[in-house]
Amino acid sequence: MSKLVPPHGSPELKPLLLAGDALAAELQKAQGLKKVPMTTRETSDLIMMGIGAFTPLDGFMGRDDWKGCCDDYRIPSRKGLFWPIPITLSAQQDVADSISKGEEVALWDLETEAIMGTMKVTEKYGIDKDCECKQVFRTTDPAHPGVQKVMEQGPVNLAGTVKVLSESYYPEMFAGIYQRPVEARQVFEERGWSTVAALQLRNPMHGSHAYLAWVAIEVCDGVYIHQLVGKLKPGDIPAETRVKAIDALVNKYFRKDRVVQGGYPMEMRYAGPREALLHSVFRQNYGCSHLIVGRDHAGVGDYYGPFDAQKIFNEIPADALVLRPLCMDWTFYCYECGSMASMKTCPHESKAVIDENGAYQGGARLLLSGTLLRKLMSEGKPVPSEFSKPEVIAVLKEYYDSLEQKVEVKLHGFATGEAKK
Ligand SMILES: [Zn+2]
Repeated sequence: MSKLVPPHGSPELKPLLLAGDALAAELQKAQGLKKVPMTTRETSDLIMMGIGAFTPLDGFMGRDDWKGCCDDYRIPSRKGLFWPIPITLSAQQDVADSISKGEEVALWDLETEAIMGTMKVTEKYGIDKDCECKQVFRTTDPAHPGVQKVMEQGPVNLAGTVKVLSESYYPEMFAGIYQRPVEARQVFEERGWSTVAALQLRNPMHGSHAYLAWVAIEVCDGVYIHQLVGKLKPGDIPAETRVKAIDALVNKYFRKDRVVQGGYPMEMRYAGPREALLHSVFRQNYGCSHLIVGRDHAGVGDYYGPFDAQKIFNEIPADALVLRPLCMDWTFYCYECGSMASMKTCPHESKAVIDENGAYQGGARLLLSGTLLRKLMSEGKPVPSEFSKPEVIAVLKEYYDSLEQKVEVKLHGFATGEAKK
């Protein structure tokens, strides 16, 4: 009997990925079906269903579930089960018109041009996109990357149960880090853990993240450093680099028997508080009893208050989730405390001053900005080890140096072209 939390709304995981003969037969059949193109977000959601991370969903949502989800976090088709963000499939009008109810279609990934699954279409419906965005993202501003995706998607939603036929490039490209819920649970069980805190990461792991992980280990059996390997917005640091940086940190500064690393294929929606809830649902499926929710979890820009993603856990029904949030205040290194600290513990309000050579000039709290960090690294100056361990900085520097070389090559090529005119 497992000591881990049960999957969401189900005694067991419900992966929808086919294997062996069933997979071969379905792939064969899919060749003859009409293709429905999917956006990258839709493909990533399909894979999440495939691996059981979205247990107990069995397909893309119909209108009632879409509305229930948006209005009050409930899906009527599953006796009002808690679900925080609609999982839907969109189609262009002509594609939707060409499909009749009850028809089976092939789900086609535009990016890799591959058949990812099949779906029996049971419903076609239009949605009020403004309404969805207001509820899920708390904004209809098209500059918000999650809103932009919804606004750009086709006008008709298609619903039905799915069979998943591929995990795309994730298992190969992120070998050793990509993990299915059943695999994570197995690792936790082998270690005899019952309480596991998930640390969501989509940025490099700096000192503050490490502190959150250590605090979580103090109160749980272990920490699951769970990286997003799905799509991010342009300018974010790619997963390979983040994985390397975490390895560098964990290898030297953590007890290996208290840490597990994994990656998941979902695309970021940047929905802040609502996304923190979705992160909770699938972390519970991964076997985690807690989710570390820090400052501005899953947010972007200034669309959300810094602690909105913590407050929302008090606004949802008590029985919504088994998983509990581990709410943490803004964390930093404090030169007065002489240790990592948070707004909750540290009484020293002055900011530490780091000059442009990376040298400490006085003050208490070290809140190093990304811009200064980038400047110090590009000029080969030292980054205070209180902010980020040198092993992590070395990995990031290598990445930024490679980017600069690429930019230089591009500019050079352009200039040569101009000269030939
Ligand atoms: Zn202090």
